[in-house]
Amino acid sequence: MSELVFIGTSDAFGAGGRRQSAMLLRAPGGSVLVDCGATTSGGLCDLGISRDEIDAILISHFHGDHFGGIPFLLLGALYEDQRRRPLAIAGPRGVERRVRTLATAMGYSLDEREWTFPIRFEELEPGREREIGPVTVDAFEVFHQPQTEPHGLAIRFANQRLVYSGDTGFFPELAERVGEADLFVCECTYHDNDFEYHISHKDLVARRHEFHCGRIVLTHLGDEMLAYREKAAFETADDGLRLRL
Ligand SMILES: [Zn+2]
Ligand SMILES: [Zn+2]
Repeated sequence: MSELVFIGTSDAFGAGGRRQSAMLLRAPGGSVLVDCGATTSGGLCDLGISRDEIDAILISHFHGDHFGGIPFLLLGALYEDQRRRPLAIAGPRGVERRVRTLATAMGYSLDEREWTFPIRFEELEPGREREIGPVTVDAFEVFHQPQTEPHGLAIRFANQRLVYSGDTGFFPELAERVGEADLFVCECTYHDNDFEYHISHKDLVARRHEFHCGRIVLTHLGDEMLAYREKAAFETADDGLRLRL
């Protein structure tokens, strides 16, 4: 049995008092954190999830609400947990440089520390599926601020396929990328705002017929979408929601 725990479900700004979007996938072979925002460490503590459980962190793109929490998580693993097991950090091109630069800017340089565990950075290239920790991952390009190297993630584990949109505006190939996924976790920042770099509920309703996947659950909910969610045509996630897969 596998499980997906929503650590956070908000947009970048903590709409509704929620935490920034991140998920923990508990697969049979181990656990993978999918995105790690500035509020993710607090969320793990709040939900009673040990940092040490995490085998790998997958990053969709380089906006702070999706990778800004990595320095906190690494330093917690070092100083609070005295972690021994390797930790993989996989993300788009340049992931190691981005994380190191971020950590330095935050005053937590990763250099010149006596690490008790190996950190293994892995670059994800679209179309080149690879094993990361206990899962197999492929990335696909999405439509979001290009300087953030935006990608969605297709994750295979235990004969299941989970697709996560990352942050993206609607683009014609999205449904094809999702394919026949068992679960599609899709960002839905807005109700009907036409901002090009995020998906709205209106977009999803209009294109619903294009999707041939199983369950669809919405996350990355902004204020506008939260106000509308009681009437939403799709399931919406809350912080702490656990789905059995
Ligand atoms: Zn975001
Ligand atoms: Zn973003």
